[in-house]
Amino acid sequence: MRTEVAPVMDGFEERHEFPRDLVARAGAVGLYGAAFPESVGGTDVGYVAATVIQEEMSRIDVRFAACNNQQGSTCPTCIYAAGTPEQVMKYVPGLVAGQTIGMMSLSEPGSGSDAAGAMKTTARRDGDVYRINGQKMWASMANQTDVGVLIARTNAEAGIRGISAFIVEPKKYPGFTAQPIDTILSKAMRTNLVFLDDFVVPAENLLGAEGQGFKIVMYALQSGRVTIAAKALGTAQACLDEAVRYANERTISGQPIGKFQMIQSDIAEMTAAIEASRALVYKAAYAMDHGAPFNRIASIAKYQAAQTAKFCAEKAQQIFGGYGLATEYKISWLSAYASLFVNGEGSANIQKLLIANDSLGYKSADRHHGKTGFRNPRVNDVADEVKDRVGS
Ligand SMILES: Cc1cc2nc3c(=O)[nH]c(=O)nc-3n(C[C@H](O)[C@H](O)[C@H](O)COP(=O)(O)OP(=O)(O)OC[C@H]3O[C@@H](n4cnc5c(N)ncnc54)[C@H](O)[C@@H]3O)c2cc1C
Repeated sequence: MRTEVAPVMDGFEERHEFPRDLVARAGAVGLYGAAFPESVGGTDVGYVAATVIQEEMSRIDVRFAACNNQQGSTCPTCIYAAGTPEQVMKYVPGLVAGQTIGMMSLSEPGSGSDAAGAMKTTARRDGDVYRINGQKMWASMANQTDVGVLIARTNAEAGIRGISAFIVEPKKYPGFTAQPIDTILSKAMRTNLVFLDDFVVPAENLLGAEGQGFKIVMYALQSGRVTIAAKALGTAQACLDEAVRYANERTISGQPIGKFQMIQSDIAEMTAAIEASRALVYKAAYAMDHGAPFNRIASIAKYQAAQTAKFCAEKAQQIFGGYGLATEYKISWLSAYASLFVNGEGSANIQKLLIANDSLGYKSADRHHGKTGFRNPRVNDVADEVKDRVGS
Protein backbone atom coordinates (compact mmCIF):
# COMPACT_ATOMS: atom_id res chain seq x y z
CA MET A 1 0.00 0.00 0.00
CA ARG A 2 2.75 2.46 0.92
CA THR A 3 5.06 1.78 -1.99
CA GLU A 4 2.71 0.76 -4.80
CA VAL A 5 -0.69 2.34 -4.12
CA ALA A 6 -0.17 5.57 -2.16
CA PRO A 7 2.21 7.18 -4.69
CA VAL A 8 -0.11 6.64 -7.69
CA MET A 9 -3.66 6.81 -6.29
CA ASP A 10 -4.04 10.59 -6.75
CA GLY A 11 -3.28 10.07 -10.46
CA PHE A 12 -6.08 7.48 -10.80
CA GLU A 13 -8.41 9.91 -8.99
CA GLU A 14 -7.50 12.79 -11.31
CA ARG A 15 -7.99 10.62 -14.42
CA HIS A 16 -11.19 9.02 -13.00
CA GLU A 17 -9.55 5.71 -13.88
CA PHE A 18 -10.22 2.39 -12.16
CA PRO A 19 -6.86 0.96 -10.97
CA ARG A 20 -7.47 -2.49 -12.40
CA ASP A 21 -3.84 -3.69 -12.37
CA LEU A 22 -3.40 -2.55 -8.76
CA VAL A 23 -6.50 -4.49 -7.71
CA ALA A 24 -5.06 -7.58 -9.40
CA ARG A 25 -1.74 -6.95 -7.65
CA ALA A 26 -3.51 -6.63 -4.27
CA GLY A 27 -5.32 -9.90 -5.02
CA ALA A 28 -2.09 -11.61 -6.03
CA VAL A 29 -0.42 -10.81 -2.70
CA GLY A 30 -3.46 -12.10 -0.80
CA LEU A 31 -5.09 -8.89 0.42
CA TYR A 32 -8.62 -10.08 -0.46
CA GLY A 33 -8.40 -13.78 0.40
CA ALA A 34 -7.66 -13.82 4.13
CA ALA A 35 -11.03 -15.20 5.21
CA PHE A 36 -11.20 -17.93 2.57
CA PRO A 37 -9.64 -21.40 2.42
CA GLU A 38 -6.79 -22.19 0.05
CA SER A 39 -9.09 -24.42 -2.02
CA VAL A 40 -10.72 -21.26 -3.45
CA GLY A 41 -7.53 -19.23 -3.69
CA GLY A 42 -7.68 -17.75 -0.20
CA THR A 43 -4.79 -17.52 2.25
CA ASP A 44 -6.76 -19.11 5.12
CA VAL A 45 -5.35 -16.70 7.71
CA GLY A 46 -8.77 -15.72 9.02
CA TYR A 47 -11.04 -12.81 9.81
CA VAL A 48 -8.75 -11.22 12.40
CA ALA A 49 -6.08 -11.03 9.69
CA ALA A 50 -8.71 -9.80 7.19
CA THR A 51 -9.68 -6.96 9.52
CA VAL A 52 -6.05 -5.98 10.10
CA ILE A 53 -5.53 -5.93 6.31
CA GLN A 54 -8.65 -3.81 5.75
CA GLU A 55 -7.68 -1.48 8.57
CA GLU A 56 -4.16 -0.92 7.26
CA MET A 57 -5.31 -0.53 3.63
CA SER A 58 -7.86 2.07 4.72
CA ARG A 59 -5.33 3.80 6.91
CA ILE A 60 -3.04 4.34 3.95
CA ASP A 61 -5.65 5.01 1.25
CA VAL A 62 -9.30 4.35 1.99
CA ARG A 63 -10.20 5.28 -1.61
CA PHE A 64 -8.35 2.22 -2.90
CA ALA A 65 -9.99 0.09 -0.18
CA ALA A 66 -13.40 0.93 -1.73
CA CYS A 67 -13.56 -2.39 -3.60
CA ASN A 68 -12.37 -4.59 -0.71
CA ASN A 69 -15.83 -5.86 0.16
CA GLN A 70 -16.63 -6.62 -3.48
CA GLN A 71 -13.41 -8.63 -3.84
CA GLY A 72 -12.93 -10.18 -0.42
CA SER A 73 -16.07 -9.89 1.68
CA THR A 74 -19.77 -9.50 0.87
CA CYS A 75 -19.75 -10.60 -2.79
CA PRO A 76 -17.60 -13.76 -2.47
CA THR A 77 -19.17 -14.53 0.93
CA CYS A 78 -22.66 -14.69 -0.62
CA ILE A 79 -21.37 -17.11 -3.26
CA TYR A 80 -19.27 -19.14 -0.84
CA ALA A 81 -22.05 -19.36 1.74
CA ALA A 82 -24.91 -20.44 -0.49
CA GLY A 83 -23.48 -21.50 -3.86
CA THR A 84 -23.16 -25.02 -5.19
CA PRO A 85 -19.55 -26.27 -5.04
CA GLU A 86 -19.42 -25.69 -8.81
CA GLN A 87 -20.54 -22.05 -8.45
CA VAL A 88 -18.06 -21.49 -5.61
CA MET A 89 -15.15 -22.99 -7.57
CA LYS A 90 -16.11 -21.09 -10.73
CA TYR A 91 -16.50 -17.60 -9.24
CA VAL A 92 -14.81 -17.15 -5.85
CA PRO A 93 -11.15 -17.71 -6.88
CA GLY A 94 -11.23 -14.94 -9.51
CA LEU A 95 -12.74 -12.47 -7.04
CA VAL A 96 -10.25 -13.05 -4.23
CA ALA A 97 -7.41 -12.99 -6.77
CA GLY A 98 -8.54 -9.51 -7.89
CA GLN A 99 -8.82 -10.89 -11.45
CA THR A 100 -12.58 -10.45 -11.74
CA ILE A 101 -14.22 -7.34 -10.26
CA GLY A 102 -17.12 -8.01 -7.90
CA MET A 103 -20.35 -6.30 -6.85
CA MET A 104 -23.05 -6.87 -4.26
CA SER A 105 -26.19 -5.07 -5.31
CA LEU A 106 -29.08 -4.93 -2.85
CA SER A 107 -30.05 -1.25 -2.45
CA GLU A 108 -32.51 0.49 -4.78
CA PRO A 109 -33.51 4.13 -5.26
CA GLY A 110 -36.49 3.58 -2.94
CA SER A 111 -35.03 0.92 -0.65
CA GLY A 112 -32.01 1.23 1.63
CA SER A 113 -32.49 0.32 5.26
CA ASP A 114 -35.82 -1.30 4.37
CA ALA A 115 -34.14 -3.27 1.58
CA ALA A 116 -36.57 -6.16 1.52
CA GLY A 117 -39.84 -4.32 2.19
CA ALA A 118 -39.46 -1.74 -0.56
CA MET A 119 -37.62 -3.80 -3.20
CA LYS A 120 -39.12 -3.30 -6.66
CA THR A 121 -36.62 -5.07 -8.96
CA THR A 122 -38.10 -8.28 -10.30
CA ALA A 123 -36.63 -11.48 -11.75
CA ARG A 124 -38.88 -13.59 -13.97
CA ARG A 125 -38.04 -17.13 -15.10
CA ASP A 126 -38.15 -17.45 -18.89
CA GLY A 127 -37.09 -20.94 -20.01
CA ASP A 128 -33.46 -21.48 -19.05
CA VAL A 129 -32.83 -17.84 -18.06
CA TYR A 130 -34.15 -15.24 -15.62
CA ARG A 131 -34.97 -11.75 -16.93
CA ILE A 132 -34.34 -8.99 -14.40
CA ASN A 133 -36.04 -5.59 -14.57
CA GLY A 134 -35.75 -2.54 -12.33
CA GLN A 135 -33.13 -0.21 -10.90
CA LYS A 136 -30.39 -0.68 -8.35
CA MET A 137 -28.81 2.17 -6.42
CA TRP A 138 -25.35 2.57 -4.92
CA ALA A 139 -24.03 -0.57 -6.64
CA SER A 140 -20.32 -0.07 -5.95
CA MET A 141 -17.99 -1.10 -8.80
CA ALA A 142 -21.00 -1.96 -11.04
CA ASN A 143 -19.40 0.00 -13.89
CA GLN A 144 -16.45 -2.45 -13.74
CA THR A 145 -18.14 -5.65 -12.58
CA ASP A 146 -17.30 -9.00 -14.14
CA VAL A 147 -19.06 -11.14 -11.53
CA GLY A 148 -21.51 -9.85 -8.95
CA VAL A 149 -24.39 -10.84 -6.71
CA LEU A 150 -27.68 -9.08 -7.37
CA ILE A 151 -30.86 -9.37 -5.34
CA ALA A 152 -34.32 -9.26 -6.94
CA ARG A 153 -37.89 -10.23 -6.21
CA THR A 154 -39.06 -13.53 -7.74
CA ASN A 155 -42.44 -13.64 -6.00
CA ALA A 156 -44.44 -10.47 -5.38
CA GLU A 157 -46.75 -12.18 -2.89
CA ALA A 158 -44.17 -13.77 -0.60
CA GLY A 159 -42.59 -10.77 1.16
CA ILE A 160 -39.05 -11.49 2.38
CA ARG A 161 -39.39 -15.10 1.19
CA GLY A 162 -40.07 -13.85 -2.34
CA ILE A 163 -36.56 -12.43 -2.74
CA SER A 164 -33.78 -14.29 -4.56
CA ALA A 165 -30.05 -13.86 -5.14
CA PHE A 166 -28.33 -14.24 -8.50
CA ILE A 167 -24.73 -14.48 -9.64
CA VAL A 168 -24.61 -11.96 -12.47
CA GLU A 169 -22.10 -11.33 -15.26
CA PRO A 170 -22.96 -7.89 -16.66
CA LYS A 171 -20.27 -7.91 -19.34
CA LYS A 172 -21.46 -11.24 -20.75
CA TYR A 173 -25.23 -10.73 -20.94
CA PRO A 174 -27.41 -7.89 -22.25
CA GLY A 175 -29.66 -5.54 -20.27
CA PHE A 176 -27.32 -4.08 -17.61
CA THR A 177 -26.33 -0.40 -17.66
CA ALA A 178 -24.28 1.17 -14.85
CA GLN A 179 -24.19 4.94 -14.42
CA PRO A 180 -21.58 6.23 -11.93
CA ILE A 181 -23.08 8.53 -9.26
CA ASP A 182 -21.29 11.80 -8.55
CA THR A 183 -20.22 11.78 -4.91
CA ILE A 184 -17.52 13.43 -2.82
CA LEU A 185 -15.86 10.01 -2.54
CA SER A 186 -13.41 8.28 -4.91
CA LYS A 187 -13.58 9.21 -8.59
CA ALA A 188 -11.61 6.09 -9.50
CA MET A 189 -13.67 3.46 -7.65
CA ARG A 190 -17.29 4.39 -8.27
CA THR A 191 -20.70 3.58 -6.90
CA ASN A 192 -23.50 3.39 -9.47
CA LEU A 193 -27.13 3.64 -10.38
CA VAL A 194 -27.93 0.51 -12.41
CA PHE A 195 -30.68 0.12 -15.00
CA LEU A 196 -31.87 -3.44 -15.56
CA ASP A 197 -33.79 -3.94 -18.76
CA ASP A 198 -34.62 -7.62 -19.29
CA PHE A 199 -31.11 -8.30 -17.99
CA VAL A 200 -30.32 -11.95 -18.69
CA VAL A 201 -29.11 -14.31 -15.99
CA PRO A 202 -28.76 -18.03 -16.79
CA ALA A 203 -31.07 -20.08 -14.55
CA GLU A 204 -28.08 -22.02 -13.22
CA ASN A 205 -26.80 -18.75 -11.71
CA LEU A 206 -29.57 -18.63 -9.13
CA LEU A 207 -27.78 -18.60 -5.76
CA GLY A 208 -29.30 -21.03 -3.26
CA ALA A 209 -33.01 -21.62 -3.77
CA GLU A 210 -35.64 -19.16 -4.99
CA GLY A 211 -36.81 -17.15 -1.97
CA GLN A 212 -33.54 -17.55 -0.04
CA GLY A 213 -31.96 -14.33 -1.34
CA PHE A 214 -32.61 -12.09 1.63
CA LYS A 215 -31.23 -14.63 4.10
CA ILE A 216 -28.09 -15.04 1.97
CA VAL A 217 -27.43 -11.34 1.71
CA MET A 218 -28.08 -10.72 5.41
CA TYR A 219 -25.63 -13.49 6.28
CA ALA A 220 -22.94 -11.91 4.09
CA LEU A 221 -23.72 -8.39 5.32
CA GLN A 222 -23.18 -9.44 8.93
CA SER A 223 -19.60 -10.46 8.16
CA GLY A 224 -19.33 -7.39 5.90
CA ARG A 225 -20.14 -5.27 8.94
CA VAL A 226 -16.90 -6.35 10.55
CA THR A 227 -14.85 -5.51 7.47
CA ILE A 228 -16.63 -2.13 7.17
CA ALA A 229 -15.87 -1.57 10.86
CA ALA A 230 -12.21 -2.31 10.09
CA LYS A 231 -12.29 0.26 7.28
CA ALA A 232 -13.81 2.82 9.66
CA LEU A 233 -11.07 2.01 12.15
CA GLY A 234 -8.35 2.50 9.51
CA THR A 235 -9.96 5.81 8.54
CA ALA A 236 -9.98 6.93 12.19
CA GLN A 237 -6.31 5.97 12.47
CA ALA A 238 -5.53 7.91 9.27
CA CYS A 239 -7.20 10.98 10.85
CA LEU A 240 -5.03 10.58 13.94
CA ASP A 241 -1.88 10.06 11.83
CA GLU A 242 -2.64 13.25 9.89
CA ALA A 243 -3.49 15.21 13.05
CA VAL A 244 -0.28 14.13 14.81
CA ARG A 245 1.85 15.04 11.81
CA TYR A 246 0.19 18.45 11.44
CA ALA A 247 0.28 19.17 15.21
CA ASN A 248 4.05 18.66 15.13
CA GLU A 249 4.56 20.70 11.95
CA ARG A 250 2.33 23.72 12.49
CA THR A 251 3.88 26.32 14.79
CA ILE A 252 2.03 29.11 16.57
CA SER A 253 3.74 31.58 18.95
CA GLY A 254 7.03 29.79 18.32
CA GLN A 255 5.95 26.28 19.28
CA PRO A 256 4.25 23.33 17.56
CA ILE A 257 0.50 23.36 18.22
CA GLY A 258 0.92 19.83 19.64
CA LYS A 259 2.36 21.50 22.75
CA PHE A 260 -0.99 23.18 23.52
CA GLN A 261 -2.95 21.28 26.13
CA MET A 262 -6.26 21.52 24.27
CA ILE A 263 -4.72 19.97 21.15
CA GLN A 264 -3.21 17.26 23.37
CA SER A 265 -6.65 16.63 24.81
CA ASP A 266 -8.01 16.04 21.28
CA ILE A 267 -5.10 13.74 20.40
CA ALA A 268 -5.59 11.74 23.61
CA GLU A 269 -9.35 11.39 23.05
CA MET A 270 -8.79 10.22 19.46
CA THR A 271 -6.14 7.70 20.53
CA ALA A 272 -8.34 6.25 23.28
CA ALA A 273 -11.42 6.02 21.03
CA ILE A 274 -9.41 4.24 18.34
CA GLU A 275 -7.93 1.68 20.75
CA ALA A 276 -11.39 0.95 22.22
CA SER A 277 -12.88 0.46 18.74
CA ARG A 278 -9.93 -1.68 17.68
CA ALA A 279 -10.54 -4.05 20.61
CA LEU A 280 -14.22 -4.35 19.58
CA VAL A 281 -13.49 -4.96 15.90
CA TYR A 282 -10.89 -7.62 16.63
CA LYS A 283 -13.25 -9.26 19.14
CA ALA A 284 -15.94 -9.55 16.46
CA ALA A 285 -13.41 -10.95 13.95
CA TYR A 286 -12.15 -13.43 16.57
CA ALA A 287 -15.70 -14.70 17.12
CA MET A 288 -16.09 -15.17 13.36
CA ASP A 289 -12.83 -17.09 13.14
CA HIS A 290 -14.01 -19.50 15.81
CA GLY A 291 -17.52 -20.12 14.49
CA ALA A 292 -18.96 -18.36 17.58
CA PRO A 293 -22.08 -16.12 17.49
CA PHE A 294 -20.94 -12.78 16.12
CA ASN A 295 -23.93 -10.75 14.89
CA ARG A 296 -24.38 -8.79 18.12
CA ILE A 297 -20.73 -7.95 18.51
CA ALA A 298 -20.44 -7.20 14.75
CA SER A 299 -23.25 -4.62 15.02
CA ILE A 300 -21.65 -3.05 18.10
CA ALA A 301 -18.22 -2.97 16.41
CA LYS A 302 -19.64 -1.46 13.21
CA TYR A 303 -21.62 1.17 15.09
CA GLN A 304 -18.77 2.13 17.41
CA ALA A 305 -15.95 2.12 14.83
CA ALA A 306 -17.98 4.38 12.52
CA GLN A 307 -18.71 6.78 15.40
CA THR A 308 -14.99 6.80 16.17
CA ALA A 309 -14.14 7.56 12.54
CA LYS A 310 -16.61 10.46 12.55
CA PHE A 311 -15.29 11.74 15.89
CA CYS A 312 -11.65 11.53 14.76
CA ALA A 313 -12.37 13.19 11.40
CA GLU A 314 -14.03 16.12 13.17
CA LYS A 315 -11.23 16.47 15.74
CA ALA A 316 -8.54 16.23 13.06
CA GLN A 317 -10.29 18.87 10.96
CA GLN A 318 -10.31 21.22 13.95
CA ILE A 319 -6.60 20.64 14.50
CA PHE A 320 -5.95 21.54 10.86
CA GLY A 321 -7.88 24.80 11.25
CA GLY A 322 -8.76 26.28 7.85
CA TYR A 323 -6.31 23.94 6.11
CA GLY A 324 -8.62 21.03 6.95
CA LEU A 325 -10.79 22.18 4.05
CA ALA A 326 -7.98 22.46 1.50
CA THR A 327 -8.10 19.54 -0.92
CA GLU A 328 -4.31 19.42 -0.78
CA TYR A 329 -4.73 17.67 2.59
CA LYS A 330 -6.13 14.17 2.92
CA ILE A 331 -8.18 15.22 5.93
CA SER A 332 -10.48 17.21 3.61
CA TRP A 333 -11.89 13.96 2.16
CA LEU A 334 -11.39 11.53 5.05
CA SER A 335 -14.46 12.91 6.82
CA ALA A 336 -16.63 11.97 3.82
CA TYR A 337 -15.53 8.34 4.26
CA ALA A 338 -16.28 8.51 7.97
CA SER A 339 -19.86 9.55 7.06
CA LEU A 340 -20.09 6.69 4.56
CA PHE A 341 -19.17 4.18 7.27
CA VAL A 342 -21.84 5.63 9.58
CA ASN A 343 -24.51 4.97 6.92
CA GLY A 344 -23.25 2.20 4.60
CA GLU A 345 -23.92 -1.54 5.07
CA GLY A 346 -26.48 -0.96 7.80
CA SER A 347 -26.83 2.59 9.11
CA ALA A 348 -26.03 3.67 12.68
CA ASN A 349 -29.74 3.77 13.57
CA ILE A 350 -30.28 0.26 12.27
CA GLN A 351 -27.31 -1.01 14.32
CA LYS A 352 -28.76 0.75 17.37
CA LEU A 353 -32.12 -0.96 16.80
CA LEU A 354 -30.42 -4.37 16.63
CA ILE A 355 -28.31 -3.66 19.73
CA ALA A 356 -31.20 -2.22 21.76
CA ASN A 357 -33.62 -5.03 20.85
CA ASP A 358 -30.95 -7.49 21.97
CA SER A 359 -30.17 -5.63 25.22
CA LEU A 360 -33.85 -5.24 26.09
CA GLY A 361 -34.43 -8.94 25.56
CA TYR A 362 -36.92 -8.39 22.71
CA LYS A 363 -34.95 -10.05 19.92
CA SER A 364 -31.54 -11.69 20.26
CA ALA A 365 -29.16 -10.39 17.60
CA ASP A 366 -27.57 -13.85 17.48
CA ARG A 367 -30.84 -15.78 17.20
CA HIS A 368 -29.99 -17.21 13.76
CA HIS A 369 -26.51 -18.39 14.72
CA GLY A 370 -25.84 -21.94 13.56
CA LYS A 371 -29.29 -22.20 11.96
CA THR A 372 -28.73 -20.67 8.52
CA GLY A 373 -27.33 -23.80 6.87
CA PHE A 374 -24.85 -21.60 4.98
CA ARG A 375 -21.13 -22.32 4.72
CA ASN A 376 -18.80 -20.31 6.96
CA PRO A 377 -15.50 -20.06 5.05
CA ARG A 378 -13.61 -20.38 8.36
CA VAL A 379 -15.41 -23.54 9.38
CA ASN A 380 -16.53 -25.34 6.20
CA ASP A 381 -14.02 -25.93 3.41
CA VAL A 382 -15.99 -26.38 0.19
CA ALA A 383 -13.21 -28.71 -1.04
CA ASP A 384 -14.36 -31.29 1.52
CA GLU A 385 -17.79 -31.42 -0.11
CA VAL A 386 -16.21 -31.98 -3.51
CA LYS A 387 -14.02 -34.77 -2.06
CA ASP A 388 -17.03 -36.35 -0.33
CA ARG A 389 -18.95 -36.40 -3.59
CA VAL A 390 -16.05 -37.96 -5.49
CA GLY A 391 -15.64 -40.47 -2.66
CA SER A 392 -19.27 -41.52 -2.79
C1 LIG B 1 -20.80 5.21 -1.35
C2 LIG B 1 -21.85 4.20 -1.10
C3 LIG B 1 -21.63 2.89 -1.54
C4 LIG B 1 -22.62 1.92 -1.36
N1 LIG B 1 -22.41 0.67 -1.88
C5 LIG B 1 -23.43 -0.21 -1.87
C6 LIG B 1 -23.31 -1.46 -2.57
O1 LIG B 1 -22.27 -1.78 -3.15
N2 LIG B 1 -24.38 -2.29 -2.60
C7 LIG B 1 -25.57 -1.98 -1.99
O2 LIG B 1 -26.49 -2.78 -2.06
N3 LIG B 1 -25.72 -0.79 -1.32
C8 LIG B 1 -24.68 0.08 -1.24
N4 LIG B 1 -24.82 1.28 -0.59
C9 LIG B 1 -26.11 1.60 0.04
C10 LIG B 1 -26.06 1.63 1.56
O3 LIG B 1 -25.96 0.34 2.06
C11 LIG B 1 -27.29 2.41 1.99
O4 LIG B 1 -26.99 3.78 1.81
C12 LIG B 1 -27.67 2.14 3.42
O5 LIG B 1 -28.20 0.84 3.51
C13 LIG B 1 -28.71 3.14 3.94
O6 LIG B 1 -29.77 3.26 3.05
P1 LIG B 1 -30.25 4.69 2.50
O7 LIG B 1 -29.06 5.47 2.10
O8 LIG B 1 -31.32 4.44 1.49
O9 LIG B 1 -30.86 5.40 3.77
P2 LIG B 1 -32.35 5.22 4.35
O10 LIG B 1 -32.66 3.80 4.55
O11 LIG B 1 -33.29 6.03 3.52
O12 LIG B 1 -32.17 5.91 5.76
C14 LIG B 1 -32.17 7.33 5.95
C15 LIG B 1 -32.04 7.61 7.43
O13 LIG B 1 -33.13 7.02 8.14
C16 LIG B 1 -32.65 6.18 9.17
N5 LIG B 1 -33.55 5.05 9.36
C17 LIG B 1 -33.94 4.13 8.44
N6 LIG B 1 -34.76 3.22 9.00
C18 LIG B 1 -34.89 3.55 10.30
C19 LIG B 1 -35.59 3.00 11.41
N7 LIG B 1 -36.34 1.89 11.29
N8 LIG B 1 -35.48 3.62 12.62
C20 LIG B 1 -34.72 4.73 12.76
N9 LIG B 1 -34.02 5.30 11.76
C21 LIG B 1 -34.12 4.73 10.54
C22 LIG B 1 -31.26 5.73 8.73
O14 LIG B 1 -30.44 5.38 9.83
C23 LIG B 1 -30.76 7.00 8.04
O15 LIG B 1 -30.24 7.87 9.01
C24 LIG B 1 -23.83 2.26 -0.70
C25 LIG B 1 -24.02 3.56 -0.24
C26 LIG B 1 -23.06 4.52 -0.44
C27 LIG B 1 -23.33 5.93 0.03
